Amino acid sequence: MRLYNTLSRQEEDFVPSRDLTVRMYACGLTVYARGHIGNFRTFVAVDLLRRTLRHVAGFAVHHVTNFTDVDDKTINESHKAGVPLRDYTSRYIDAFREDAAALGLEPPEDTPRATDPGNLQAMSDMIAALGQRGHTYRSDGSIYFRISTLPAYGQLARLDHAGIVSGARIDSDKYEKEDARDFVLWKATPPGEPSWDLGVGPGRPGWHIECSAMALRLLGPGPIDIHCGGVDLIFPHHENEIAQAEGATGTPFSRFWFHVEHLLMDDGEKMSKSLGNVFTIRDILEQGYRASALRYLLISVHYRKQLRFSWATMQQAEEALRRIMDCVGRLGRVTDGSGTAGWEARLIAARDDFRQKLSADVNVPGALGAVFELLREANAAIDASTLSREEADATLAFFDGCDEVLGVLVLRRAEEAAPPIPQAELDDLLAARIEARRMRNFAEADRIRTALESRGIVLEDSAAGTIWKRK
Ligand code: AMP
Ligand code: ZN
Repeated sequence: MRLYNTLSRQEEDFVPSRDLTVRMYACGLTVYARGHIGNFRTFVAVDLLRRTLRHVAGFAVHHVTNFTDVDDKTINESHKAGVPLRDYTSRYIDAFREDAAALGLEPPEDTPRATDPGNLQAMSDMIAALGQRGHTYRSDGSIYFRISTLPAYGQLARLDHAGIVSGARIDSDKYEKEDARDFVLWKATPPGEPSWDLGVGPGRPGWHIECSAMALRLLGPGPIDIHCGGVDLIFPHHENEIAQAEGATGTPFSRFWFHVEHLLMDDGEKMSKSLGNVFTIRDILEQGYRASALRYLLISVHYRKQLRFSWATMQQAEEALRRIMDCVGRLGRVTDGSGTAGWEARLIAARDDFRQKLSADVNVPGALGAVFELLREANAAIDASTLSREEADATLAFFDGCDEVLGVLVLRRAEEAAPPIPQAELDDLLAARIEARRMRNFAEADRIRTALESRGIVLEDSAAGTIWKRK
């Protein structure tokens, strides 16, 4: 397995450092709003990495994705909504889980919240350790990291000697710092804002400390194997995570850094909440597209290249996925042909090609190329009526094997098995119809049947009861 490592700016061989289990951490959503499809580009890319490590490289995975549920934005928005912080952020955690399931993300082994008591304690302990090693100072009740105490600072982002990176997300903290590069570890809070006192005085954690502390608490001791996030996090967030973890422990923090390029809008602008140009998964579904097609779109460009979103590319993704589904459908209907010369060897070669592409820095577009090459040949063999039933089954097994990593076919099949209206509503209507028939109110029963039919559902009554089907 080869992986590009932002730390070395090179592709390197990757194996986990302990027990053939990959210890990986991905920075999660700041839960003050529903995540947008730009956020999900990163989460889907991390899902592809995770599945490649498991199903292609054969490693076990311990994957942590956090929720940032305390920061300026979550506090401000919960204030505006008049809802306690923890309850406010819980809504968006639920929304994230719903969207993640719709996109077929394998659930990470751990999904810690920053404000879980054990995590806050770990942050406070890490700050205390940084203090003992002389890396902190206090100002106006807040605790800061003094960058000048860590000569190695800046290696990930490759900062110039003034510590500046062009175009970086600038720290917007309004607090008093000795040096512009210093950053806050524990913030003094105004009255009425959430505050904890766990050993370093009252306050709340800064954003960066959350991830260092949770990563080492759940995956440590360092170095962990892989740390992931979008490219906008390289500086200052990840640079600061390294400073904290290494400053507190004296040990390297993460061996590999995996960064996902941005999803852009059609006009080339980054999709971001602050620019207001976002689509959520719901927005995509409301346009009549399915989550499986969105997943296909998000994986179809290599994770280190920018991806432009447009409705035209959304449509192309739908069509590409449909081509695979159509071929799978045809393979299912194959009756016995005479046999296709060299087909078994062809399947083995396609499988090798697929796995090799993924093993080379998770090259999903390359792997999809292997799938479509085989698909064309399978369609030709079906057209020529040579494919035997056994060969068709082996070909279906090839597609299902690929889908362990791609995760699109399984999603599309689940979507097709689900009713086109919410399940609870369908259940209620079916119960109302049974009741109407029991009361011999056949006009009402027929009204329900017709209403469902206009929404894409046909009912079939039999002695055993009523079943529904998609129209
Ligand atoms: P945030 O909630 O802003 O901390 O972001 C959660 C994750 O989404 C981080 O890994 C970000 O780097 C990533 N992210 C935010 N916007 C985009 C985008 N337009 N394209 C890809 N990833 C993004
Ligand atoms: Zn983080």
